Amino acid sequence: MDFTEHVAKRLLSRHDIPTPPSILVGANWPTTDLARAMSTFEGRPVAVKAQVPAGGRGKAGGVVLTSDPMSAVNQMAGSTLGVHTVDQILVEHQVDIAHELYLAIAVDGSTSGPLLMFSPDGGVDIEASDTPLTIMALSIGSEPDVSELTAVLSEAGCPEPVTEVAQVAARLFAAFVDADAELLEINPLAVTGRGAVVALDGKLTVDDSAAGRQEALARNASVPPTTGLEAKAAEHGLRFIELDGAVGVLANGAGLTMTTMDAITHYGGRPANFLEIGGDAYTLAVPALEVVLANPKVRSLVVNFCGAFARCDVMTGGVIEAWKTLQPDIPVFFSIHGTGMDEAREMVRRELDAEPFDYMDDAIKAAVAAAGEDQA
Ligand code: GDP
Ligand code: MN
Repeated sequence: MDFTEHVAKRLLSRHDIPTPPSILVGANWPTTDLARAMSTFEGRPVAVKAQVPAGGRGKAGGVVLTSDPMSAVNQMAGSTLGVHTVDQILVEHQVDIAHELYLAIAVDGSTSGPLLMFSPDGGVDIEASDTPLTIMALSIGSEPDVSELTAVLSEAGCPEPVTEVAQVAARLFAAFVDADAELLEINPLAVTGRGAVVALDGKLTVDDSAAGRQEALARNASVPPTTGLEAKAAEHGLRFIELDGAVGVLANGAGLTMTTMDAITHYGGRPANFLEIGGDAYTLAVPALEVVLANPKVRSLVVNFCGAFARCDVMTGGVIEAWKTLQPDIPVFFSIHGTGMDEAREMVRRELDAEPFDYMDDAIKAAVAAAGEDQA
């Protein structure tokens, strides 16, 4: 789950990390409400910031420094930044920046433990910076030692007040753990002209599997933009992601689906979709095949079933019914293994006049070949 800046900042604030005073407004607020909200800034300099779950807003026009928030908000409301429409805008007191630091905690993919990352060279050009990130492993279950953090940050070139930045790092870790975060980033963490430390931006990603424990947060998660087909699939409770390739994939379970996608890539093809169906293949085969086939890029289809509790013959029966209803004009390649495979294979032979493959690899190779040469 991804979150926009203001959600991340609220989390930071709850953990006593300073953020600028701000007001969140909706793009569709009536002018009178907006004017009333903006009047609290009394003509002082503000930062007007589009709340979209993407970085790089500074460079894309999603962050405007102004003393006229009304015009900036009106201009930004409803505009698009990349793939996102701006429907919420954060207006906050402008800060007089002396230094922009980068401070983040992320789960390390290889150890699954949290890593603290710091650069004295933060801000919108962090990626172009030559200064290497300083990385320090932290451990869940023990609070980081502020004096040790202070030493590490000093060594990394952190400007004064280093102890306060270290304090923010310790609180950031508490917030990270509290939210079951995968990433909690402040860029920039500003040191102001007066030597105060303030978080000017916040980025939060929370482990999807923590949605149940993080109900309040989950309600504020950003909804990823979906294609028309993805929305249609979601209506049927199918998890479908549209991809660029030409080989359609219908497999049972997320793991087998990803294996199939990897094998397609391995044999020089490109998958056209991710689609997760479970033992529901029988009842959901028609909508599932409909979304897979409605993608005009699909030129061949792999059906890869591995039966256990979900029986192959039941799943295959659903697919065959759907195939007869939709009568798609593309070749289909079956790999069917596990519970009920003999019955399922016999059904494919009888009903579709096709021969299932003994090996998954062969079915996938054939599907890649049928989709054509020009897909890599
Ligand atoms: P991002 O580009 O999406 O990461 O958006 P940020 O919130 O990080 O803002 C981009 C840049 O705008 C920051 O790096 C700052 O340089 C600048 N900025 C943001 N808020 C303020 C502010 O309150 N005062 C000043 N002077 N600059 C700001
Ligand atoms: Mn930023």
